[in-house]
Amino acid sequence: MMDTQEFKRWGHFLVDMIADYYDNIENFPVKSQVKPGDIISKLSVSAPKESDDFKSIIDDFNNFIMPGITHWQSPHFHAYFPANTSFPSILAEFLSSAIGAQCMVWETSPAAAELEEQMTIWMRKFVGLSDNFHGVIQDTASTATLVALLCAREKYSNFSINKSGFSHSKFRIYCSKEAHSSIDKAVKIAGFGIENLVKISTDENFSLIAEELEEHIISDLKNGLIPLVVVAALGTTGSTAIDPINNINEICQKYNIWLHIDAALAGTALILDEYSELRNQVNNADSLVFNPHKWMFTNFDCTLYYVKDKDTLINTFSILPEYLKTSNDDKVNNYRDWGIQLGRRFRALKLWFVLRSFGTDEIKRRIKLHIDFAKDFAEKLCNDTNFELLAPTHFNTVCFRFAPKGFNGNIDALNESILKNINDSGKIYITHTKLNGKYTIRFVVGQTNTEPIHIDYAYELIKEECYRHFR
Ligand SMILES: *Cc1c(COP(=O)(O)O)cnc(C)c1O
Repeated sequence: MMDTQEFKRWGHFLVDMIADYYDNIENFPVKSQVKPGDIISKLSVSAPKESDDFKSIIDDFNNFIMPGITHWQSPHFHAYFPANTSFPSILAEFLSSAIGAQCMVWETSPAAAELEEQMTIWMRKFVGLSDNFHGVIQDTASTATLVALLCAREKYSNFSINKSGFSHSKFRIYCSKEAHSSIDKAVKIAGFGIENLVKISTDENFSLIAEELEEHIISDLKNGLIPLVVVAALGTTGSTAIDPINNINEICQKYNIWLHIDAALAGTALILDEYSELRNQVNNADSLVFNPHKWMFTNFDCTLYYVKDKDTLINTFSILPEYLKTSNDDKVNNYRDWGIQLGRRFRALKLWFVLRSFGTDEIKRRIKLHIDFAKDFAEKLCNDTNFELLAPTHFNTVCFRFAPKGFNGNIDALNESILKNINDSGKIYITHTKLNGKYTIRFVVGQTNTEPIHIDYAYELIKEECYRHFR
């Protein structure tokens, strides 16, 4: 087994290997080129009875695992939404796994609880949230949205559903047709039933139509249903559409409905003064989620959940079996009561390392650059009449398709094959969505080390592949 001498040797080796990986990351095919079953067929059928030496484990990592990796940290990765990281974040995770602390209550690692409290305050100030929001770090936005729905449920029912289960009341949850699938999942898990998730139509910019929301609420009330939560999107996953948060908030106030904001990606943009108007809007919400693990150089997983009614949060989730009671329970935050999990990773550490190592100015500078690059990219496409932008570029995501003048074939199929050819080349990675039924290519800028050359490279490559069919 590995002793401290061996650990040092392999630790240094791995740090060198990781640094070399980053130096050469652009040489890997961005999207893994393996076929289903390729990797599993190389793995032995059962765990080894005797110790393998570490050298052979690392060799197998390089030979078997790396070919099956899609390189999310490559500056040529423009797919989905980013899940970017950075060296300070990697090093923090290294330390966090070394300490191996379970951060369920204050006493199980006071520094973890207090650093988490302070990081949620730093981040609250950084994104400009008002100080009546209380923050907690969770694993993912999916979990945070589920937590919001459960809190709204318990607040409305005066904690009776936690106690006795559902009676006959039918709660209604609302979001736009463009909202994230995590809301569907949360509605199912929270016991509302997916039939009670009302998906409101969107306008030409893919933003929820507030008038339609109100109409649905009124008709639900007439039918004896209970409007409970509206989830408003600040940056949908398809096209980064922004719902009319002010109007939605007015409706929520009028009918006493919980307003939860899903800003999983675009929450990061709130750090920029250009978005100060959006900041003011989100400050009216009951809760908000955003993911530093998407677009703030902090590796997965790290989600910030902010909520105004802290007492309801804690009353919804608190448990106090005898073996978890401590003498400090009234003086400290025991984060096991702020969400679903009992055991919790020390996620605040990487946020602390990232915020200190970058400084807020540098984070702002990079986020601004990403947005500028995306807007430049969109503008370039606009200058070519054979491309169509299919949604506004609010942040870092450009939605477009190639629709050459005079082309009578199937435009969806054309764009699908363009996307496939580009991704199969391994040179860059982009993904698609459907907007208004149209096959849409999404180009996302969000890598930690993106430079103009990477954007130009992608633009030329896309253009080349598009026009290749027409020469
Ligand atoms: C990515 C995304 C989510 C889900 O994030 P996870 O942290 O992976 O659960 C939710 N909502 C939106 C708008 C997203 O873009």
